[in-house]
Amino acid sequence: MNYKTNEQLKNWTTLRIGGPASRFYEPQTIEEIRAVLLENRQAGAPLMILGNGSNVLFEDEGYEGWIVHLGEEFSGIEERENGMVRVLAGTENGELAHYLARHGLKGFEFASGIPGTVGGAVIMNAGAYDGEYKDILVRVGYLDENGELHEEDASNLDLSYRHSWFTDNFGVVVYADLQFEEADPEAVHARIQELHDKRHSKQPMDKASAGSTFKRPVNGYASALIHECGLQGTNVGDAMVSTKHAGFLINDGECTCKEFLELVSLVQKEVKAQKGVDLELEVRFVPHKG
Ligand SMILES: Cc1cc2nc3c(=O)[nH]c(=O)nc-3n(C[C@H](O)[C@H](O)[C@H](O)COP(=O)(O)OP(=O)(O)OC[C@H]3O[C@@H](n4cnc5c(N)ncnc54)[C@H](O)[C@@H]3O)c2cc1C
Repeated sequence: MNYKTNEQLKNWTTLRIGGPASRFYEPQTIEEIRAVLLENRQAGAPLMILGNGSNVLFEDEGYEGWIVHLGEEFSGIEERENGMVRVLAGTENGELAHYLARHGLKGFEFASGIPGTVGGAVIMNAGAYDGEYKDILVRVGYLDENGELHEEDASNLDLSYRHSWFTDNFGVVVYADLQFEEADPEAVHARIQELHDKRHSKQPMDKASAGSTFKRPVNGYASALIHECGLQGTNVGDAMVSTKHAGFLINDGECTCKEFLELVSLVQKEVKAQKGVDLELEVRFVPHKG
């Protein structure tokens, strides 16, 4: 299958950070993904699946391995019956939310503003505004490292806060079956708009970021702790703690991975020192060598 070389990963992540990938694939079908997996087994190179790149941090040196991008070219929505929808992994949450609203189905409004793909959201059990993927996910189809297709019920996927079976095990999510309820399309559209306005009033949506940099600690919120430590506006080069939302570390220009990581550790040290809390990265750091 065709691939690009030296594709700059900063162009494929919302943080706008990351050097070149050795190979960059954009498969359009399950068969093509399978072919890449099989070829990769032979080659023995590191491999990573990339969705919309809204929760990843690549190194400035890039990724010495194969990137398999599942985005627009691998998207699609198929309505089944009784409010069940099968969605290909590369479909964006926003696109799916508007499709569901048009078709009078509710239950996905919470995810309408999460700027990732359905595949990435399953992996992360993405959530917002009192909803999470766990609430709507019925089953997934995924390929194992041999390219074999499996179907697994959501109840076996170990879904918890920003965690799934896939965060600890290899599997390429290719589709998800999601369950919704019938509703008035106008009401669903209105809820999406309400959450959109809320998000835009609180989060720096005009800045490059990967959303909340840290996971929610057991007690409290990372953003509140960072705010109380007086860290908003603190910077290392072009990496900065957002002045609009303390939980977002942003790329305020031409930030490097090194600067971003230095700011991460500065924030972690300060929050530990002042509040005694360990902040854990929610953003997934991808080492250069895979
Ligand atoms: C402005 C902003 C706001 C955000 N708000 C929220 C929020 O409210 N709630 C929230 O939960 N998150 C939020 N995020 C984080 C992010 O959008 C989510 O984690 C999202 O689910 C990631 O999806 P993605 O397609 O971008 O995945 P990527 O960032 O591309 O990948 C994330 C991880 O999933 C893996 N992966 C992706 N697709 C697949 C697949 N098909 N099969 C196997 N592995 C795969 C990748 O290898 C990687 O490990 C926000 C991010 C931004 C930039």
